[in-house]
Amino acid sequence: MASILLIEDDQRIREALARALAQRGHDVRSSASGLAGVEDALAEAVDLVVLDLGLPDLDGLDVLKMIRSVSPVPVVIATARDEEAEIVRALDAGADDYVVKPFSSDQLDARIRAVLRRLGTEEESGPIVVGDLSIDPQSRDASLAGKPLELSRREFDLLLFLARRAGAVVGKREILAEVWRQPYGGADKTVDVHISWLRRKLGESAAEPRFLHTVRGVGIKLVDPGS
Ligand code: CA
Repeated sequence: MASILLIEDDQRIREALARALAQRGHDVRSSASGLAGVEDALAEAVDLVVLDLGLPDLDGLDVLKMIRSVSPVPVVIATARDEEAEIVRALDAGADDYVVKPFSSDQLDARIRAVLRRLGTEEESGPIVVGDLSIDPQSRDASLAGKPLELSRREFDLLLFLARRAGAVVGKREILAEVWRQPYGGADKTVDVHISWLRRKLGESAAEPRFLHTVRGVGIKLVDPGS
């Protein structure tokens, strides 16, 4: 199951697609305008956006560019115009795939699943393990040396995000964009505070780090302390 945001101004199409995708097991929310869609795409944890290019308030391509400038969320565009030039422009602007109207909900669902599979965001198999730290994205359980960790939702998301990139330094701005969906930064302290809470729960400190290492002026990296 994926969390899908549907940006479509035509109420009839929007409701029919939302219903059909929900029946296929997706968690669907929808926006009726480009501006609302951009806001929803950034405010909510969305796995994939289905974007109608023909919107009343903003050009669909501009909506795509706005989303893309601040978020890597995959976007499948729906276009009424079967014009190669427009589809190419959309793909160049960062769309992951497209469907041409009229399309069936079966086809849209197949495209959605293909994009999520390709990006590896669907159905991760089993927990992510870094040293004696284990994080299961499906059950949202985390444990250290076999002992369950009591994490808040944000702490879990932050730990999962860092564990998926274990060994790499991740910038605070990127963390804010990905975990908090706040691409414009400004609240750097938010990340620092959550890192310090995570450290406490992992039984370490900034002075004596094990998993979480601050790289001054660059960001944070999660490493296997045993390697
Ligand atoms: Ca439309």
